[in-house]
Parts: sequence; C-alpha cells; structure tokens
Amino acid sequence: MDKIPSFSKNHDTLLVGLHESMQMHGVTTWDLRFKKPNQGDYISAKALHTVEHLLATVLRNSEQKDNVIYFGPMGCRTGFYLLTVNLNYNNVLSLLIESFEKAITLDEIPGNKREECGNYLEHDLNDAKIECEKYLEILKSL
Ligand SMILES: [Zn+2]
Repeated sequence: MDKIPSFSKNHDTLLVGLHESMQMHGVTTWDLRFKKPNQGDYISAKALHTVEHLLATVLRNSEQKDNVIYFGPMGCRTGFYLLTVNLNYNNVLSLLIESFEKAITLDEIPGNKREECGNYLEHDLNDAKIECEKYLEILKSL
C-alpha cells in the first residue's frame, strides 16, 4: 500500500503550533499540534476526549460553523485535526483563539451523558482545560 502523506512527514521535526496539513476537494486539514511528537509528553486519553467534546461544540456554535467540517483527536495524543472550507490561516487562527478561550469557560462537558457518548466516563474537564490553556498560549505566540 502507498504511504499516506501524513506519515511521510518526519514527525521528529514537527513543532507545536498550527500547521496546514493538506488540501483536498476544497477542504483544508489543519494540524493543531499541542505536543512535540515523541518527547514523552502526551495529552491524557481522558483530556483528549474532553477537549474533543468541548471544541466540537464550541466550533459548531461559532460564527464559522458552516465552514467547519470536522474536529477530532490524533490517535498519538499530540494534538487534533480540524477540517475547514473557505478559511485561510489567519481566519483559522482567530477562530481557534476565540474557541479555546470559550472552551475554558465551560463548567460542563457537552454530550457527556451515557446516551450521548461512546465512553461517557472517560472524561477529565480539569485536565482538558489545562491542555486548552497551554495550547491557547501557543496560538497567541504565533
Ligand atoms: Zn465522547
């Protein structure tokens, strides 16, 4: 089988931040890299899951909701993917700063009831907010 583009990058040289990963059919995939790969520091499984719930909800309630196709975690637990249409780097950067600022104000995890989630006990709101705050600082430094 062919090696897919995202495995063709040298992950040891990837830095934290916001990177355009690829474009296809008008959809842009953004690499929201929270952690430098292969350094022993990863987002916990619980925080990863909670950040997914927080951001998916906030992004789909934002002014750009119609341009947001998908938000979800990387299996390696070093970040998330965001898929958008009609948004450039600066649009996405502002959207993310606004969205992470909103996410850290939430006192409840959206969609964390048994009937709403596939693993409803695997959440950690406090750790998720800590990860969001750290990434927010990274975004603001870009
Ligand atoms: Zn869930």
